[in-house]
Amino acid sequence: MSNTILSSDWIFTNFGAPIKGGGLEIDSKGYILRVLTSNQLTGLANVEFYPGFLVPGFVNAHCHLELSYLAARVNRNTGINDFIARIEEVRNDFDKNHRVEAAQHALYAMQDEGIVAIGDICNSNDTVALKADSTIQFRNFIEVYGLNPLAAQSKMDKALVMKELYSNSSVVPHATYSVSEELLSIIYRNIEKNDVLTIHNQESEAENDYFKSAQGGMKKRFESWHLPLPQFIPSGKSPIETIRPYLPNVKNPFIFVHNTFSTKEDIDFIIENFSNAYFCLCPASNLFIENSLPDFSLFSNLQKRVCIGTDSLASNDNLSVLQELKIISAHVPEIPTYKLIEWSGINGARALGFDSWVGDFKPGKAPGIVWIEDVDVESCKLTEWSLSQILVHAQTK
Ligand SMILES: [Zn+2]
Repeated sequence: MSNTILSSDWIFTNFGAPIKGGGLEIDSKGYILRVLTSNQLTGLANVEFYPGFLVPGFVNAHCHLELSYLAARVNRNTGINDFIARIEEVRNDFDKNHRVEAAQHALYAMQDEGIVAIGDICNSNDTVALKADSTIQFRNFIEVYGLNPLAAQSKMDKALVMKELYSNSSVVPHATYSVSEELLSIIYRNIEKNDVLTIHNQESEAENDYFKSAQGGMKKRFESWHLPLPQFIPSGKSPIETIRPYLPNVKNPFIFVHNTFSTKEDIDFIIENFSNAYFCLCPASNLFIENSLPDFSLFSNLQKRVCIGTDSLASNDNLSVLQELKIISAHVPEIPTYKLIEWSGINGARALGFDSWVGDFKPGKAPGIVWIEDVDVESCKLTEWSLSQILVHAQTK
């Protein structure tokens, strides 16, 4: 088969400025052969034109695919404590067939909108088979949590059994507030060279209050569940500063998820103490649970460190990376669209360790090509009506 040339109002390469009226020459498998300027397109035959944007395949750096069956089962804006309580209440109401079917539907929808790689939190073996069959590339995070220090080793033992089931998997702590000192130390001792780490961070003000002063709903919730609080509570410090001594000298990629209630000092602390830190923004989930958003201006100049996640259908109406970008663009129009596209592509790919295959339109890669239509071509902005679909699949495996 011959090569194909795709053109659009704007091509976002993710390794340079967007190209107005540019094009992409690809081979029959979707590998990028050349990125073309509008001048280079002049006179070429058989150019397929897609009005809007062409962008590299999206990377969803934070998802819980296995929670897809909880779509429309949780109320909005109840705050993190009631959100977690509700999940605990309903998570056993559905049989495995139902759960797997919901995950499969969600996975197809992500594939259609242009997601080519996912960082996915796993607490069960529900998604093992469908991931093995998927064209989407996964980085699996086997999540552990538990405040009872006596149960720490058995939690890790179970996680290591699960790790064997999933390829590209690492054992990670759930959140700053849900792990004991013992469990953190055991997680740290089990970190392997090629692991990618992640943790939910500063998703609520309640989390900050819990660490600073052992006040508020989070402490009450744990007490009502008769869970022992770690000795470091209260620490008078930020969540990450508090747990940092248990995770010294981590050089692995480490994705801090949410950061909704992070200050500049918190972000600076993470960058200084974790050399390979990424900040994953999940604004739709933040609006759903806490009705809050991170201070995006703190992240807009962090360049390669910001990526995008959808979180789960328990706290989102869909698992759409584009929807997350639209929320950010609407709230902070000053952030140029090319940055958002980098966050949703190459940065997520780097965080997950997939950047040699996907994330940008560098010749030799087959990152997937996504068409975004219904954009504002003149100002090069997304609109509330923008929609995306995969045009050319990625070659990731
Ligand atoms: Zn999450």
